[in-house]
Amino acid sequence: AAIQVHDIGLQVLKNADDEVGFKVLVGGGLGRSPAIGVVIKDFLPAKHLLTYLEAILRVYNRYGRRDNKYKARIKILVKAWTAEVFAAKVEQEWLQEIDSPSTLTDDVIAHAKDFFTSPAYESVDVEHAEVTLQKLAAEQVAFAKWRDRNVVAHKVSGYCAVHLSLKPTGVAPGDVTDSQLEAIADLADRYSFSEVRVTHHQNLVLGDVKLSDLPELWQAAKQLGFATPSIGTLVDMICCPGGDFCSLANAKSIPVAEAIQRRFDDLDYLYDLGDIKLNISGCMNACGHHHVGNIGILGVDKKGEEFYQIQLGGSALDDASLGKVLGPSFYADEIPDVLERILSIYVDQRIEGETFLDTHRRIGTAPFKEYIYAKAA
Ligand code: SF4
Repeated sequence: AAIQVHDIGLQVLKNADDEVGFKVLVGGGLGRSPAIGVVIKDFLPAKHLLTYLEAILRVYNRYGRRDNKYKARIKILVKAWTAEVFAAKVEQEWLQEIDSPSTLTDDVIAHAKDFFTSPAYESVDVEHAEVTLQKLAAEQVAFAKWRDRNVVAHKVSGYCAVHLSLKPTGVAPGDVTDSQLEAIADLADRYSFSEVRVTHHQNLVLGDVKLSDLPELWQAAKQLGFATPSIGTLVDMICCPGGDFCSLANAKSIPVAEAIQRRFDDLDYLYDLGDIKLNISGCMNACGHHHVGNIGILGVDKKGEEFYQIQLGGSALDDASLGKVLGPSFYADEIPDVLERILSIYVDQRIEGETFLDTHRRIGTAPFKEYIYAKAA
């Protein structure tokens, strides 16, 4: 959930006594002043969640820069104070309210849990389903690729989660039409207890699909255009609406996304590259999360002309990091070539098992920069 790049991040965990609680982070965010959140509480018992969050908000409300819309964020206060000071202020505030009526009693937690009942899972003959799936995968490479990339293991035996990809080439990443939404609702009714989820990677997920339904679902998803087997690859990018739709944009982002999709259309090459997060924003507001893309692209305006700055090394996962600017920006039509050269450095330099991010972290931005700008010169 990209918890390290939000104002407040909560990670559910258990302590040594098996009690459920939260690790609490504050001060993350993207946009104009990107920042990775910092931990201010290693373990907060679940019952104190609301009182602690209230304390964070009260501290921010009292001391934050509410006078300036560019600075009215928790991250600005954390940076000005340091995480230690912010944590101490919150602790002090919280101790005054620690057992207030906002404390979550066992009854309140149980009541909340009642809203999240499990669907009526059926018993699935996993062995039989696996034989069928493996036979189909052997006969049809497309199914094998789709299962490998777009299907995720489930905690319930006999079930899986399925990504419906919204990244076919030539369609703005994440776009669906009204009739496609109707069709998705039908798929959810038929295969996933009428439930569908939206991911921040601009895809949809059917969360509870029987393994034995996979062949049928694959056919249906394929017909509807939702079976592009590219989840997690370079072309499974996050892309904001940019200048085609957004009045705040510095540059268009959708045509850049499409040019990348068209250039990188060889699935075997994409699979060889492995998991890469490519994120594109049309301005510094960062709706496309470019700061935390392994490769981030930011649209910039220079005297009325659209350019694109590239950043490398961002991540929104547990090891969150902000990307570093590669160097001077490029024209839109240069981006596919530049990406190709960036990826060639990765392929040349990677050690077995390394992702793009691993390699970048090991060798840094310099080798990419030298190669890209030497070539461009
Ligand atoms: S990043 Fe900028 S251009 Fe893109 S949607 Fe957000 S405000 Fe608009």
